[in-house]
Amino acid sequence: MHSFLFPILIVIVAAFFVLIFYFLRRLKELYKKAYIDDVTGLYNRVYFHDEVQKILEKNPNQKYALMATNIVHFRTIYGSYGPELGNVILKFFAEKAVSIRNDVLVARAKEDKYQILLPYETKQEIIDYIEKLSQLVHTFSSETVPTKLYIRCGVGLMDGQTDVSFFRMLSYVELARKEAINRACTYYFFDTEMGERLRREKEFSDIMESALQNGEFKVYYQAKHDIVENTVIGAEALVRWDSSVKGFMKPDEFIPVFERNGFVIDLDFYVLEEVCKMLRSQLDCGKRAVPVSVNQSRMHFLHDDYCERMRQVLLKYSLPPGLIELEITETAYMNMSGSKEKLIELKNMGYQLSIDDFGNGYSSFPLLFNVPIDTLKIDKDFLFSAGNRTTREILLKMIVEMSKEMNLSIICEGVEKEEQVDFLLSNGCKNVQGYLYARPVPESDYLDGNYLKF
Ligand code: C2E
Ligand code: CA
Ligand code: CA
Repeated sequence: MHSFLFPILIVIVAAFFVLIFYFLRRLKELYKKAYIDDVTGLYNRVYFHDEVQKILEKNPNQKYALMATNIVHFRTIYGSYGPELGNVILKFFAEKAVSIRNDVLVARAKEDKYQILLPYETKQEIIDYIEKLSQLVHTFSSETVPTKLYIRCGVGLMDGQTDVSFFRMLSYVELARKEAINRACTYYFFDTEMGERLRREKEFSDIMESALQNGEFKVYYQAKHDIVENTVIGAEALVRWDSSVKGFMKPDEFIPVFERNGFVIDLDFYVLEEVCKMLRSQLDCGKRAVPVSVNQSRMHFLHDDYCERMRQVLLKYSLPPGLIELEITETAYMNMSGSKEKLIELKNMGYQLSIDDFGNGYSSFPLLFNVPIDTLKIDKDFLFSAGNRTTREILLKMIVEMSKEMNLSIICEGVEKEEQVDFLLSNGCKNVQGYLYARPVPESDYLDGNYLKF
């Protein structure tokens, strides 16, 4: 070889290595960008999904728990204290999640959501992992965040028993995490009961819109009575679903599903309009129309346009004020921000307001002072199953006295027996609703008066 070629060769080889070096560095950067979360240093969702599928394929006999986890109130903390502290918390969680076991795969999916894959033999191992993680996360302390941090975790078992795909399981695990949030517990395992519930919910969701269009939802009316005067003083509208697919259903079967998927909003407006139509036609025919109450889901209070929509309905049917009463449970106005203002607005429009299921759990007289309520509807279980007769008497007397002071009317629901009537009358409650007097009946029967039992 010519001697002058040698240095050239060296330069070419060196340049080649430099290129390779830069190429590898660039590749590493791209890899990091594609797979590593830059806040926590954990893998991101893309990597996690690829990796888990490979792991599951390679280890068909190993059982794995798939988890979706989040930090309670993280958004509020982030919004109040800023990204700097938010990122410290995200990192803190990440470090703790990987520190408990070295065979765990942890990824940050987005915001404060993490996904975790844990091999296990017994369910207790999974619980131990979550409880340890929860304890470690509690230990986070900062001068700026005055409260402890909590986690919520949804868990799904990939134990070879089910043929659920990884991505399907991931969506189940998400639902289990939401269930943990709803139940305010640290973890919730996706189980067959939940699977069955989801299947039913899906089934209902597929047919509910067309059911509404096809008039499958029917409004039944249950009269309310003044037992001293022996007169009908009003009625409650109660929805039924006469489904062409599922048969005839009472609301307990479908309202909870519709509360979860949001359809209850449309359904409640439908019921309200049906009631308005009925009252309008009564008035147009010159007949006596007694007030009708409609149930209002707590979900309405989450919607800013609720009051406006309610106003439009009143305008559309131009009903005189006081003919429609809204039955709202205590939890609706207690736990929703802005609900007090909404109730005041509804009251000013001409709706009567009634607290449904009063006494069932959250009763708080002081809170009633804040909202313009007209009626307390005493829950049947509260009155007829609480303690002995003396206790019940004390409770009822107290409610009657207080409602007099506050200028509220009261009505007791679920009255089935004569002795209950005696008890109510002797304690100053004369308005009742219950099977003893009338059952919920279709509109035509209600208007004929065929339902009355006296
Ligand atoms: P609720 O508002 O407490 O309605 C009273 C329930 O008690 C009704 O059941 C009624 O049929 C039943 N009931 C009436 N009298 C008696 C009695 O003497 N004994 C017994 N054991 N029960 C009696 P229903 O119609 O099955 O409704 C159940 C729940 O479904 C209602 O409870 C209400 O929370 C909800 N609901 C009904 N219709 C609607 C609606 O249009 N919208 C919304 N959001 N919820 C509704
Ligand atoms: Ca009610
Ligand atoms: Ca009730």
